[in-house]
Amino acid sequence: MRPLVLVIGAGHAGLEAAFAAARVGARVCVVTGRLDTIGQTPCNPSVGGVAKGHLVKEVDALGGFMGRAADACSIHGRVLNRSKGPAVQSTRLQVDKARYGAHASAALLAAEDIAVVEGLVRRIVLAGDRTTGAQLEDGRTIDADAVVVTTGTFLGGILHTGDARTPGGRVGEAPATGLSRCFAELGFALRRLKTGTPPRLDGRTIDYDGLEEQPSEDPPPRFCWVDDPEPLPPLLPQVACHLTWTNPTTHALIADNLERSPMYSGQITGRGPRYCPSIEDKVVRFAHRDRHQVFLEPEGLATHSVYPNGISTSLPADVQARLVATIPGLERATLLRPGYAVEYDAIDARALDHRLASKDIRALFFAGQVNGTSGYEEAAAQGVVAGANAALSAFDRAPLVVSRSQGYIGVLVDDLVTQGSDEPYRMFTARAEYRITLREDNADIRLVGLAHAAGLVDDARRERVHARAAQAQDLADQLRRGTRPADARADLVRRAEAAILYEGYEARMRDEIVRMHGDTGDLPLPPDLDYLALAGLSRECAGRLQAVRPTSTSQAARIPGVTPAAHATVWAWARLRARSLVAGEDRRE
Ligand SMILES: Cc1cc2nc3c(=O)[nH]c(=O)nc-3n(C[C@H](O)[C@H](O)[C@H](O)COP(=O)(O)OP(=O)(O)OC[C@H]3O[C@@H](n4cnc5c(N)ncnc54)[C@H](O)[C@@H]3O)c2cc1C
Repeated sequence: MRPLVLVIGAGHAGLEAAFAAARVGARVCVVTGRLDTIGQTPCNPSVGGVAKGHLVKEVDALGGFMGRAADACSIHGRVLNRSKGPAVQSTRLQVDKARYGAHASAALLAAEDIAVVEGLVRRIVLAGDRTTGAQLEDGRTIDADAVVVTTGTFLGGILHTGDARTPGGRVGEAPATGLSRCFAELGFALRRLKTGTPPRLDGRTIDYDGLEEQPSEDPPPRFCWVDDPEPLPPLLPQVACHLTWTNPTTHALIADNLERSPMYSGQITGRGPRYCPSIEDKVVRFAHRDRHQVFLEPEGLATHSVYPNGISTSLPADVQARLVATIPGLERATLLRPGYAVEYDAIDARALDHRLASKDIRALFFAGQVNGTSGYEEAAAQGVVAGANAALSAFDRAPLVVSRSQGYIGVLVDDLVTQGSDEPYRMFTARAEYRITLREDNADIRLVGLAHAAGLVDDARRERVHARAAQAQDLADQLRRGTRPADARADLVRRAEAAILYEGYEARMRDEIVRMHGDTGDLPLPPDLDYLALAGLSRECAGRLQAVRPTSTSQAARIPGVTPAAHATVWAWARLRARSLVAGEDRRE
């Protein structure tokens, strides 16, 4: 019988985990709180954006779901950072939210090897140091060979609007309190984080006259390659967004009501995302700024709901209505639903290895917001890694590990398991030291080898990726010679031009990667190495290393607070060990 992978949750991480485990060849059972919220997008109506677009392309390169789903449901698309170099240009699609959820739900429920169960998991079941499944709140137990936890903002979730506190994972859904307690009892360090969402507005009550219009690009960008044999989903009608601004009146109103914000009254203790602050936070932290952007983004074709991107808030509903009315174009806007903040538990991801597996409990994997990230794309990227590895470990096959030089997914996972996150982690291009080589245009060729080895893509797809890379190479050669074929495909031109622009940098980076990670640069470290007993390390550095238990010397070097001297000591030990292992002896201390 093929092994069974149990995925807890059907958000963006859960979907990718389930599809990836099934692609590797496992049977999959997904258990999720509510069947009607599969693939929900509870916050912004968009997929992609700066660095997040790179993650979506990489998920697609690993055979994942998100890129194609976003293409099928897109109602507005742009490439961001057009004025900057191609390496940091990112695709951002706005999706019809209802269609996206319906599309995800239909795909999951129709998948051959995936069963979907409605219910809330209360605890993880263990036999010794290994998980054997999970128990639901109603007492049912589901046996599994591996378990992937993707519970998003639901662990101990509390929703806040003004001084109103409601237990919940997101609006209308119960929190997962039992499971949160279970993880604490199993020894996982939990941290309290928070994130928030703005009110939703009735588009019919917005006065768009005088606001700057931002149309979709023509043609809008897509995440998938146009030469995929599965035809691109037909393009939906495209809608425009509009730009407006807050002003000193808005800011004065917020400042006057700060004590009614649960973030400032002390009611919320969790840390919010520094790079995606609420409007209260912006007014306090950037007091010198007299205006902030607000993008008005339609949430779908069959709804009048508009998402005012930029004014996430947990102020009381009456203050939200008044603050919205201070903004040009929104003077008479009706709130369909007030904004709110959600406070929840996340695990310290330093308890995981690069497969996103627990270091202490075998066959237990984690992905998504529960690991301390925010964002649909970050969740999806982790979902592929955790889901594929859960299946690969159940088959006793080699793991899927993306390195920092191979992809943003590698950067994301390495940052999480090495540094943890004490605020919701969001991807940026600046986090990737090899960002010149990690472009959207080459995500397919960067990852196809790993994807194929893991069983995530088949032979035909690998061949297509190689053929496409060869075509882009030919095109680059022609462009260098000053000829440009009239019928050249736009996506290949973009790729060939980027390759030409960066060829000098790329060569230097390749040298650097070899220097840092070549045969002698990066050395493996055993997971049970006792750093406190390693001669030459300060107690502080030893403690930091012991907390993370890095798997390689390069990971050890990236742990915050590990000094160059400590890294040199660990490296020297690893080098000695590598030599002794070759000589047949393990000189562990
Ligand atoms: C109010 C709010 C505001 C947000 N604001 C932002 C933002 O500004 N920017 C941003 O980038 N991201 C934001 N997000 C986060 C974004 O929604 C998530 O990052 C993303 O959806 C996480 O995906 P996930 O798969 O990890 O979890 P989710 O999409 O939350 O999915 C979790 C899934 O787990 C299921 N589940 C939970 N517990 C159990 C259990 N015990 N048993 C069975 N099933 C369970 C749920 O039913 C759900 O299907 C916000 C989210 C919320 C709720």
